[in-house]
Amino acid sequence: METRVRFAPSPTGALHIGGGHTALFNWLWARHTGGKFILRIEDTDLQRSTREYEDTIMSGMEWLGLDWDEGPNVGGSFGPYRQSERLDMYRENAEVLVKDGRAYREDDAIIFKVLPGLDLSFDDAVYGHIESKSDGLKERETEGLKDIVMIKGDGMPTYNYAVVIDDHFMNITHVIRGEDHISNTPKQMLLYKAFGWEQPVFAHLPMILGKDKKKLSKRHGATSVYEFRDMGYMPDSVFNFLALLGWSAGEDKEIFDRQEAARLFELHRVTRKAAVFDPDKLNHINQEHLKRLDPKTRLGLIKPFWIELGLPVEKHDDDYLAAALTLMGGRGQTAKEMAAFSDYYVSFEPVKERYKPEGVTSEQAARLKDFFASLLGEVDWKAETLETRARAWVEENGVKMKDYAMPLRFALTGMKVSPGVFEVAELLGRGEVRKRLEHYGFA
Ligand code: GLU
Repeated sequence: METRVRFAPSPTGALHIGGGHTALFNWLWARHTGGKFILRIEDTDLQRSTREYEDTIMSGMEWLGLDWDEGPNVGGSFGPYRQSERLDMYRENAEVLVKDGRAYREDDAIIFKVLPGLDLSFDDAVYGHIESKSDGLKERETEGLKDIVMIKGDGMPTYNYAVVIDDHFMNITHVIRGEDHISNTPKQMLLYKAFGWEQPVFAHLPMILGKDKKKLSKRHGATSVYEFRDMGYMPDSVFNFLALLGWSAGEDKEIFDRQEAARLFELHRVTRKAAVFDPDKLNHINQEHLKRLDPKTRLGLIKPFWIELGLPVEKHDDDYLAAALTLMGGRGQTAKEMAAFSDYYVSFEPVKERYKPEGVTSEQAARLKDFFASLLGEVDWKAETLETRARAWVEENGVKMKDYAMPLRFALTGMKVSPGVFEVAELLGRGEVRKRLEHYGFA
């Protein structure tokens, strides 16, 4: 039988880390098994649901690279994929239970009658055997019985009822969702039993906690998937990072792409232990993915952040800018950081802002001028030849290389740390190097 899983968000907010995590694990299982991944919009809360949120959720999923096979925008043979468009189906099926005497009407609502003493234990694919009895259900307290509202007075279905109808008629084989839904599962099982339907496999995912071991929330910083994009994290790394919350790809396998994750993913290897959201780990993963990018892709990622810094990227050709980023190697954990660390390739302005030499004696200035005159006189403007020439000069003059390389680094980059200063000089070109040195009175 083909695996069919679904992500069923309520469009009442952006795609948050928790939702992205649930969507991702469903995607992994669908792709691992060669099955189908379905997007279903649970918009029965008419007050809080909007199309804008629906759109942001979808673009958040697209950004993460979680493509779906069926859903409101792509269609499919099990639609409609918005609950607000399935109201007839909810009502018709509720009527069936009323006719059977399993449910009753109260005003305009339809309520499922829960009988005591029923065993509602189930085997969760992640949490294992979970004991539950119908006597313990807490949906709605009437005289002794805890009945389940199916259709509310306003005609809208409740979550626990609609989810069963949809999962059944959409042929869902595995319900993969957050562990906060474990307590809902017995109620849903009651409905499966009443209809005489086979229930899907339930797999609940561990909770995500902040580093302080409290439930992840705004206090912990960014929570929506888009905030990570805007901070300069790459979708590949956020995907990689989220996949590692509650699952591991095997020993020492920390960096992987979507295909690799899908190949290795196993539902039964998801852990029950709450997963801790560690921003340092995200930074590390992002840096690893950044390093692995080919120069042009890397440029595409960094450019918007240079522009955000007000740097004139249009003044340079892409080959030059891509070469600059290649030279940057693994510097910077996010695209934003890498953009900031490499601003001096795009413009001299930020260098001038950062580096304002003080206390250079006229004697020192004269020596620096000699040194730089020697460098600028090099015919073969290559890092290697420049370095050889610099070494020869310091040796001849009995001085230390670092006392000359450092002012050069500062004048070119305005920074204490940078890639090899002669490499930087080569890439900037003789004209630009001369201009920067002249500005500081070093040439
Ligand atoms: N709309 C529900 C939620 O967002 C779906 C839960 C489920 O997957 O059953 O929590």
